[in-house]
Amino acid sequence: MKRTLIIGPPGSGKGTQAGRISERLGVVAISTGDIFRSNVKNETTLGVEAKKYMDAGDFVPDNVTNKMVRDRLSETDVEDGFLLDGYPRTTAQVDYLDQVLAENDEKLDVVLQLTADDEELISRLLGRATEAGRSDDNEAVIRHRLHLYHQQTEAVVAKYAERGILTQVDGIGNIDQVTHRVMEALKVPGATPTLQTVLEGPPGNSRAQL
Ligand code: ADP
Repeated sequence: MKRTLIIGPPGSGKGTQAGRISERLGVVAISTGDIFRSNVKNETTLGVEAKKYMDAGDFVPDNVTNKMVRDRLSETDVEDGFLLDGYPRTTAQVDYLDQVLAENDEKLDVVLQLTADDEELISRLLGRATEAGRSDDNEAVIRHRLHLYHQQTEAVVAKYAERGILTQVDGIGNIDQVTHRVMEALKVPGATPTLQTVLEGPPGNSRAQL
């Protein structure tokens, strides 16, 4: 399982889990959101272009995003695999990624979807807005990002489900519990239960614990 994708609605904890997965699997994590934010911070041409869309909660246009991903995937540190976070999120991006990978006789091995309901996601993101101050974490923009997830990215998930490479993980619970479920779903060796999961019992009854 070398080429993995993590997908989920805004606020599902993708970025946090992606960091842990990449460490455990020893593959590089590529987050399109992080690449865009770092370009915004450094005021690059790409960043100036992307910011307009990001602040509104819109997708950065495919022609910009696709090229950025193609360039990133041509670097040498992804030869042994990668974990993509935040891409693809439109079906056109799925087709583009397929094409880029096929050029090197590669394909995705597994797609991991983190799930959580809208109400939970909105409360998490509003909490993060107060702490971290991301400019796209205000309520109207959050609702728009969630709307786009349902409207466009769920079709991406459906495509991978049809291919039989989708695995879903409940994203509700504390970070360690979710990591444990993720490692089990990815069948990472040594995914032993944390003390907390042992004490609190199996996942599923953890709705109130975030
Ligand atoms: P979120 O948790 O809201 O999905 P991300 O950090 O993954 O946060 O992305 C932040 C923003 O970056 C998105 O709202 C969008 O404007 C832009 N972005 C990231 N990935 C993509 C993508 N694959 N296609 C288009 N826009 C993207």
